[in-house]
Amino acid sequence: MTARILDGTKIRDEVFVELKGEIRALDASGIRPGLAAVLVGDDPASQLYVKSKIAACEQLGLASWMHRPPATITTQEMLQLVDDLNRDDAVDGILIQLPLPKQVDTKRVLEAVDPAKDVDGFHPVNLGRLVSGRPGLVACTPAGCMEILCRNNIAIEGANAVVLGRSDIVGKPMGLLLMHANATVTICHSKTRDLPETVRRADIIVAAMGKAGYVAAEWIRPGAAVIDVGTNRVTDAQEAARLFKNFPERLEKFRTKNSALVGDVHPDALNVAGALTPVPGGVGPMTITMLMSNTVKAARLRRGVPVASGSSSSSSSTSSNSSASSSKQTQTTTAR
Ligand code: NAP
Repeated sequence: MTARILDGTKIRDEVFVELKGEIRALDASGIRPGLAAVLVGDDPASQLYVKSKIAACEQLGLASWMHRPPATITTQEMLQLVDDLNRDDAVDGILIQLPLPKQVDTKRVLEAVDPAKDVDGFHPVNLGRLVSGRPGLVACTPAGCMEILCRNNIAIEGANAVVLGRSDIVGKPMGLLLMHANATVTICHSKTRDLPETVRRADIIVAAMGKAGYVAAEWIRPGAAVIDVGTNRVTDAQEAARLFKNFPERLEKFRTKNSALVGDVHPDALNVAGALTPVPGGVGPMTITMLMSNTVKAARLRRGVPVASGSSSSSSSTSSNSSASSSKQTQTTTAR
């Protein structure tokens, strides 16, 4: 069996078309949603991430602002900047690119962001809303995973879902979203006993551990849906040979570049799973997509503009997560 590929790039393009329509409609009523990004220091990876987020804003017609404080900024100065952005009515979303320098109290800074503008969905108020199934802003990566499942008509209701990883930004919100969509959820972590046996029971597996190719193909029940969040850069030739034994083209590419991007799931899973997100090209493109969706949603919620049903910013992953409403959303999305 070769798994159906759950193409995140294709879904990103679909959502972008929908968001463009929403943004045009908001524009016609005098609202231009805007995202303010704060990038501290000169870390090249962070620069690249923020650049692609700003590029996505420009592509969609969202307003965007980039703030570039120096790496020597203090917690107080960061809090002042966040306060200014909270007060700026043109700003609907605030993105603090992580990591912040060591001297800055990251938790304090993230908690200072107005929950109404917390488009990363990291604020405890938004996490609390997610727990209790109330409308709020949901963390982008797990929201993107839900979008992939729903838009590919993967049945969630009643499914056994296993989430590998319990971080605040991926594992925990992912487990909650799946539970609200009526899956029976098991969340695993580094102390979980007999991981292979637990994974074997899963109809849906979401791997978010940060361990290249850790989930073996033999652990996966034939036909299961696999969402691979892991983004690991492999540079060791032996590891690449282990991972790409059955994928000579990928091994060849690794040899040319001396590196490759690999998920947490072994590439051999392609021959066991029923559906699978590739790495790269699966969950990755959806994270920025959901950031854009959250910015539009924040603009609507802040300004009291009702969210049009069926719109991208009202999708199953980012809207109310109450059990009843999620169940309804699952039905509508599976019919898409
Ligand atoms: P994280 O904060 O490091 O959390 C990793 C989680 O995996 C922890 O809960 C840890 O358990 C668990 N874990 C580690 N080893 C394990 C093992 N052997 N068995 C079971 N569980 C294990 O990572 P994260 O921020 O959630 O990110 C996870 C992965 O997703 C990373 O590869 C990251 O790069 C990727 N990611 C991708 C995107 C994207 O846009 N594609 C976005 C975010 C993250 P403990 O809690 O017990 O330590």
